[in-house]
Amino acid sequence: MKAEGIDGIEKFDSPGKGRGIRVTKAFKVGDLLFACPAFSYVLSVSERGYLCEFCFTKKEGLAKCGKCKKAFYCNVGCQKADWAMHKLECSSMCAYGENWCPSETVRLVARILAKMKSQKDGQRGPSEKLLLMAELEAHVDKMDSERREVHEMDISALHHFYSKHLDFPEHTRLLCIFSQVNCNGFTVEDEELSHLGSAVYPDVALINHSCSPSVIVTYKGPVAEVRAVQDMKPGDEILTSYIDLLYPTEDRNGRLRDAYYFTCTCTQCSSPDKDKLKLKLRKRSEAPPPEEVRTMTRYARNSIRDFRQAKHQKDILTYLLQMCESSIDHMGALFDDANVYMLHMMYQAMGVCIYQGDWEQAARYGEKIIKPFSALYPAYSMNVASMYIKLGRLYVGLDKASLGVKFFKKAVSIMEVTMGKDHHSIEGLKKEMLQK
Ligand SMILES: [Zn+2]
Ligand SMILES: [Zn+2]
Ligand SMILES: [Zn+2]
Repeated sequence: MKAEGIDGIEKFDSPGKGRGIRVTKAFKVGDLLFACPAFSYVLSVSERGYLCEFCFTKKEGLAKCGKCKKAFYCNVGCQKADWAMHKLECSSMCAYGENWCPSETVRLVARILAKMKSQKDGQRGPSEKLLLMAELEAHVDKMDSERREVHEMDISALHHFYSKHLDFPEHTRLLCIFSQVNCNGFTVEDEELSHLGSAVYPDVALINHSCSPSVIVTYKGPVAEVRAVQDMKPGDEILTSYIDLLYPTEDRNGRLRDAYYFTCTCTQCSSPDKDKLKLKLRKRSEAPPPEEVRTMTRYARNSIRDFRQAKHQKDILTYLLQMCESSIDHMGALFDDANVYMLHMMYQAMGVCIYQGDWEQAARYGEKIIKPFSALYPAYSMNVASMYIKLGRLYVGLDKASLGVKFFKKAVSIMEVTMGKDHHSIEGLKKEMLQK
């Protein structure tokens, strides 16, 4: 049997947080603490044809599965290695055609069930050196009715689309697995933070949250890598951020309570010095009454929610851009351009402009966003790096190559810490720079 444990890391009881992990030796900024292959993973349907289903390599000319013609691979090796998972969907996709529509969570859970079945009792996989998949926190008791309803629908879809190749455990066990995935699942992202797929990494799931994280999780194919973004000494807890750190303390904790059922007590949350900067107001001769600020903050949060709901309809791009612009206009009467709610809407507007091919306008938004982003996010943040990449590509596209290269270089200096110097994304960017 494989030895339990990871060199330099141990499990411990973190005061007030339950179980956690800490380092037993020193790590410096940029050091890899550990890499964790996925227990199970799945490529997003929207990425099909662009990335290999098995190793997530992005390249042109991938070969497709001869049966379903929907899964794409680097070569026969990748296809064979993926068959144990792809067979759960291949014939079902052929049978259902256009009506095949399980959610990504359902697809992931199907793979988890297949993987669990193939494992011998008590066997520890390479993603479970510290924690077994079955030991993941589920929080079934804390689930609200809305969440429960989503899980029940997912369970029905699982039975509907996957019954041919899977034996299902009883209902309460299934509910527990969906709940585990909900609290512990990871979104696999590339260097631009595009969503590539979903996965579970039991060992990585042991890492507790902090808004001032000591490590960052990035991906090499479907493998998660955990790197230090702060120097660490023996005994320090390994802490990562579960959420987008742009937002003020109240918003961050709302998100943490909704998704993970806890309130953060990290240094950023207990003395929220950055909040004032994050909620920066436009300079006026007199300070506005607090009620005006509260009303505008409510408006900002509602706008963010409304946009999120509308965003999935790609046929209404002009309308989406209007939504962004009118909320920027409205908030701009009170909020400074560097206020996070302004930044949020400018970021969304930039995305729409890129999608529409209006690169000049996109770059104008990007220029307004980048400086406050680098001040408000932690020193080594993929949110900042991805913004530099976007700006770099925009300027290259606008025939301002030297400006583009300047932004690429800034992205690379962050990525060398967060993704490791030998990461293929950095090689890719360096190639792009050489061509300019
Ligand atoms: Zn491959
Ligand atoms: Zn197939
Ligand atoms: Zn916090």
